[in-house]
Amino acid sequence: MTDGPTSKTLKLHVKTFGCQMNVYDSERMAEALAPAGYALTEEMDDADLVILNTCHIREKAAEKVYSELGRVRQMKETRASGGKETMVAVAGCVAQAEGAEIMRRANVVDLVVGPQSYHQLPDLVAKARGASGVLATDFPTEDKFDHLPARTMKRALPSAFVTVQEGCDKFCTFCVVPYTRGAEFSRPVSQLVQETESLAQGGVREITLLGQNVNAYHGEGPDGKDWSLADLLRRLAEIPGIERLRYTTSHPRDMADDLIAVHGDEPKVMPYLHLPFQAGADRMLKAMNRKHTAEEYRELIGRIRAARPDIALSTDIIVGFPGETDADFEETVALVREIGFAQAFSFKYSARPGTPASTLEDQVPEEAKKERLRVLQDVIEDERKRFEQALVGRTVPVLFERKGRKPGQIAGRSPYLQAVHSEGPESLLGEIVEVDITAAGPNSLTGVINSGFAWDDRVQPAV
Ligand code: SAM
Ligand code: SF4
Repeated sequence: MTDGPTSKTLKLHVKTFGCQMNVYDSERMAEALAPAGYALTEEMDDADLVILNTCHIREKAAEKVYSELGRVRQMKETRASGGKETMVAVAGCVAQAEGAEIMRRANVVDLVVGPQSYHQLPDLVAKARGASGVLATDFPTEDKFDHLPARTMKRALPSAFVTVQEGCDKFCTFCVVPYTRGAEFSRPVSQLVQETESLAQGGVREITLLGQNVNAYHGEGPDGKDWSLADLLRRLAEIPGIERLRYTTSHPRDMADDLIAVHGDEPKVMPYLHLPFQAGADRMLKAMNRKHTAEEYRELIGRIRAARPDIALSTDIIVGFPGETDADFEETVALVREIGFAQAFSFKYSARPGTPASTLEDQVPEEAKKERLRVLQDVIEDERKRFEQALVGRTVPVLFERKGRKPGQIAGRSPYLQAVHSEGPESLLGEIVEVDITAAGPNSLTGVINSGFAWDDRVQPAV
């Protein structure tokens, strides 16, 4: 039998830029296109359809897309000279923010699709095939999640993302998210339970709930009332097979008491929290429209640590926001030292078109931003090392996810989200195993599987 046009498998390559929500969206796009005959390929050169899933959060992120499109153009031309057609789509936040501009600047692009239209991808791709460029960046009234297929694809990893909330109503003055992802929207609990159950059936043990402002989650519960993120976490913790729950990214203002309490009494909620504070000076926090002070952040951390003393904290920080002085910056550094973060992500302020801060006059010179970032990153690195060093000599449960770089090695994650490497059989992938931590390296912890752990009994059927 020869392949007819309908039975031919088409190849799809998705290149993901930016945040975890884009990783999730890329997976959902692949799932949406599977019924149209598309199978994923790691090799862009093999792909009949290339999707760039883009990020607009900082200038550099957006620039990367245009330089990648240059490479895609060459690849498309090479394939065309071999008689192969290639469709190119740009998705994600750059697509949403600059759709028409992309069409104008890069005629290699056949389709521009915003994050709210991914469920329409098979139709849009078909439409783009016969047209000279299709732009789909509306915020459609229907819920894309009602139309995306179930998550039944075979999974390589025992951990997965689930988007529970999208968009943001906070309007921090530096941020494009409210413009690219739209208003806050929470998915109903029943939909999330269903999605998590199918992931658990596919072998997933750890779920990270995603949202631009995830702790503002207030989805409709099965009782018709609004459920909080705490309510949702407790419900998902009941699903057989799900052993670990995480969520990101949270806003300090939405860190409600019931959510703090979950960290104290639901063991499946991991002792790790990413809680951006952005700046240590109240003057800057006000100019950023963050809606909290440094003291309120400190006090909040105190309450979270009272509920879960071993919690590992992570944060985002911006240096060089317009008007930031050396003294303001020192307050940021002092707060980082005081809190002691296990991990922190720091960025030079980048003016984003359309955001209120981009038109402020007192922009900080590039050199000063660079120097502040260097100083801050040294402090962050010290804190990270201190946190990881404190784990040496302790025994921690590790969810093993993949083969390690060296033969005979497997790699996974601690409850505090560090990568952990250990000697061990591949049969332990997908298992949570006690590991004695023996060393802390620059990128990961090393350990040995706890001698009291009878992994043979756990992973092999009894004979
Ligand atoms: N919703 C999260 C919050 O409220 O903290 C942040 C989400 S944003 C995708 C991730 C991080 O990017 C932010 O926390 C901020 O530190 C950084 N970021 C956002 N806009 C930025 C800008 N214009 N310049 C530099 N960093 C920025
Ligand atoms: Fe952006 Fe986060 Fe502020 Fe929302 S809360 S505007 S996503 S930084």
